Amino acid sequence: MIRAACLVLPIAMALTANAQDEMEHAQRLKSSLLGIDTHIDTIQRVYYGHVDLGQRLPDGQVDLVRLQEGGMHAPFFALWVPTYFKGAEAVRRTLDLRDSIQGVLDRYPDRIQLATTAGDLERIVKSGKIAAVLALEGGHQIADDLAVLRMYQRMGIRAMTLTHFRNNNWADSSTDKPQHNGLTEFGKQVVREMNRIGMIVDISHVSDKTFYDVLAVTSKPVIASHSSCRALAEIPRNMTDDMLKALARNGGVVGINFGAGFLNQQDAKGLISKIATMSADVPELTGQALDEYSAKDFVANDWSHPHPAAATLDDVVAHIDHVVKVAGVDHVGIGSDFDGIPDVPKGLEDASKMPALVAALLKHGYSEADVRKIMGGNTLRVMKEVIGR
Ligand SMILES: [Zn+2]
Repeated sequence: MIRAACLVLPIAMALTANAQDEMEHAQRLKSSLLGIDTHIDTIQRVYYGHVDLGQRLPDGQVDLVRLQEGGMHAPFFALWVPTYFKGAEAVRRTLDLRDSIQGVLDRYPDRIQLATTAGDLERIVKSGKIAAVLALEGGHQIADDLAVLRMYQRMGIRAMTLTHFRNNNWADSSTDKPQHNGLTEFGKQVVREMNRIGMIVDISHVSDKTFYDVLAVTSKPVIASHSSCRALAEIPRNMTDDMLKALARNGGVVGINFGAGFLNQQDAKGLISKIATMSADVPELTGQALDEYSAKDFVANDWSHPHPAAATLDDVVAHIDHVVKVAGVDHVGIGSDFDGIPDVPKGLEDASKMPALVAALLKHGYSEADVRKIMGGNTLRVMKEVIGR
């Protein structure tokens, strides 16, 4: 015991020195590390708020400057459409958002480029640009039509979250009352078609039963683009240990969500009430009235100035540790949900802070090879398997 006490001071000094070393190590690693974030909501800010992603923005969590600074070279831009856009209206809004991201790509061709394969992504990042991967967030966006799904694929969209907060006509959501007992026959066709045309099936937001139904049907690995662990923060949007194990058997990856309510039990309650408000019934609208309603809704849920939260960077590390323990280091990634979360963890307030996470992982004893897998390598593997090289 006495010997241990004598060791405390030198250990403390060594730890401070190590913390500096780890941050330097993280900064060094950044240039050679492929950072992939499987979910950001930034394109809403471009569509509704007309923000210029080429500038370092004073609010929100993502722009081209901060992505480069943080070494998150390849974000999945979610083309999220609220579920109150139904049928053809959901298709129209998807095209609006596809047009918005195109505006960014056209304005900054020397800084950001569309990636439609894993090889594209690697080549674009190597050339010093941001690689944009496009995803849909909500199966309602295909308006129950596989031809619409195929056309999205031809427009460069490479992933689809099967539901959002509400059930759609063919899949149950984790935050709605069960209606289909998981995935319907048509829902199974959607999964098979996505496998066939090289689109990644994303099971974030779906009910547990839908998740297991998807795994029974899919011939390819799936992702949970922005979910965390239910064992640490008990919300239906997070994955149980059994789901994490099943995801590992499938070869898939869960991108840890940085939303404070996904990370920390103290913050989880607030998130659940917010989800309830967001999934409340809304009037049946179309055309301009619908556009006006959604613009107001966006302002009401403007999360570009996040609230203080209990969650910290250490919670993110704890969730990564938990997935590694339950499912293995090959099945965890990053799915920040930046620009779509009401509160962010201390120490990871925006995309520029990612090196702090890398440093924390190194400090936690992860090897450089493991850090590469977590920060993007695992997701790149799934992209290669599903989309192709
Ligand atoms: Zn989401």
